[in-house]
Amino acid sequence: MPDQPLGAPGTIRAVMAMTVVGHPLAQHLLTQLRDVQTPPPVFRTIAKRLTIAIVLEAVRGLPAVEVEVQTPLERTTGRLIFPDIVAVPILRAGLGMLEAVAELFPEVSVGYIGLERDDVTLLPTSYYEKLPPIEGRHVLLLDPMLATGGSAAGACAKIEERHPAEIRFICVVAAPQGVDKMRREHPNVPVFTAALDRDLNDRGYILPGLGDFGDRLFGTGSDSGLPPSRRP
Ligand code: URA
Repeated sequence: MPDQPLGAPGTIRAVMAMTVVGHPLAQHLLTQLRDVQTPPPVFRTIAKRLTIAIVLEAVRGLPAVEVEVQTPLERTTGRLIFPDIVAVPILRAGLGMLEAVAELFPEVSVGYIGLERDDVTLLPTSYYEKLPPIEGRHVLLLDPMLATGGSAAGACAKIEERHPAEIRFICVVAAPQGVDKMRREHPNVPVFTAALDRDLNDRGYILPGLGDFGDRLFGTGSDSGLPPSRRP
């Protein structure tokens, strides 16, 4: 079917929205994460701080209710974000973003999707899935590296089967290939990231990227995507 022009009469077509969080503090933290010298304990702390910065953008527009509160001086009104949020980290690297969300939204429900990338085909295969009720709820899907987009798109498909109100995808670094895949397969899912990087290498690592997020987070010390000349 030929592409309809946006807004053509009688058509409704979603175009995926992407937000790159350019706040200087987010960029400062991202630069520290990219640095190959940053050791796992520091990497974990910075990953959490950067996730908070991205989530601040990602929760804009979530339903909020107006409430009255009594300050020590007088009554006033304020707004509270409707807390019906489900955080779904994609295992295992997404775990590095979960604590940030749980700290911001202590009442969050948490589900897990385990997808691992086949090193040869680069396709995601599911090895674990545990999700709370999703129907009508706001899902924050967490995976730090949007590389080929296979895991993100696969996880969105699994969550969409359960009819959420919406999914918002939160990552740290995105590659153009992953963004394109999300745009094609899940145009209703907005993507929030701290960087849109240049490319993928032949092993599916983002360039310039930050290496293997899971390895750097958990200190599992593989080659983290380094080219052969620089592998330990
Ligand atoms: N996963 C990672 O951890 N890093 C990449 O660069 C791509 C996928």
